[in-house]
Amino acid sequence: MAYDTQNIFAKILRGEIPAHKVYEDAHTLAFMDVMPQSAGHALIVPKTQAENIFDLGTDELQQLITVTQRVARAARQAFNADGITLMQFNGEAAGQTVPHIHFHVVPRYAGKALQAHGRSMENNTVLAGHAEKLRTLLNQ
Ligand code: 5GP
Repeated sequence: MAYDTQNIFAKILRGEIPAHKVYEDAHTLAFMDVMPQSAGHALIVPKTQAENIFDLGTDELQQLITVTQRVARAARQAFNADGITLMQFNGEAAGQTVPHIHFHVVPRYAGKALQAHGRSMENNTVLAGHAEKLRTLLNQ
């Protein structure tokens, strides 16, 4: 299927809608998930038009996972996480709701369950605070 240029992450990449950005380079953008499953839940997207993992070349995938690892490291430190869950869904049947490939970085705590996927919107000020914590570590 053709890439949907009107998907929400394409709009964020074009600057048409706001996002709490935490990292950006020539190939990649990272920003806070507005419906976090845990405090500090971040998303990492490539700038290339790719719906899922099958649309990425190996260089693009390498750039994406490298930044994902950096964000995961920063999230572990910034949010004192016991662990970090990475998630990445390909296709509606697999749970993908936004058709632009992305990795989720989700801080985890012993014995604490995740909040539901994409269910409840976080307060803007809280998201801004979490983004600031990540940005500080990612831009050192
Ligand atoms: P998926 O289900 O495709 O793996 O994940 C999409 C994610 O995007 C969900 O976790 C959801 O909370 C998040 N999301 C949906 N709309 C927006 C938005 O407008 N801005 C941001 N920053 N995240 C969004």
